[in-house]
Amino acid sequence: MNRAIFLDRDGVLDELVFYKSSGEWEAPRRLSDLQMIDVRASLQRLVDAGWLLFIVTNQPSHAKGKATRDDLETVHGEILRRLNGLITRSYVCFHQADDGCDCRKPSPRFLREAAQEFNIDLSQSWMVGDQDTDLACGRAAGTHVALVEHPRSANKRGAITPEVRGRNLDEVLAHLERTGV
Ligand SMILES: [Mg+2]
Ligand SMILES: [Zn+2]
Repeated sequence: MNRAIFLDRDGVLDELVFYKSSGEWEAPRRLSDLQMIDVRASLQRLVDAGWLLFIVTNQPSHAKGKATRDDLETVHGEILRRLNGLITRSYVCFHQADDGCDCRKPSPRFLREAAQEFNIDLSQSWMVGDQDTDLACGRAAGTHVALVEHPRSANKRGAITPEVRGRNLDEVLAHLERTGV
């Protein structure tokens, strides 16, 4: 069976953006706001070591009326383009909490879907994110969980204790490489 690392997107692969209209640090709403975090080299090492990498992300800005669906698709497409060849598949929930969908994190649905399709042993896999919802998603799916302590999302975590934590994705991935978990 395969082992996977499920990556949250915003605050992990790309920078959170401050919007005056909401007064919050959020996912980029348009392409001009996108700033990637430099993680290509460490992702490449993990891929070379045999890990499958996935992105699992909630993108509710259109559902909340803050962005167009086109702009969100463009931003996501550009992130995939920058990570070309490293990401096996990405999973996006475009709903908001009130929609009652079953794909929005902390739902483990996308992780289970990936496990089925790509023959992944979830108990040997990791979910990595910067919010409690990411950790809850991994726990619900039966993966290990690691926390990226991005300073701009510190208010969205703290209730769940991860097995591994780091200041950024590089630190977290270095730990996984070292321990070979
Ligand atoms: Mg995030
Ligand atoms: Zn959804």
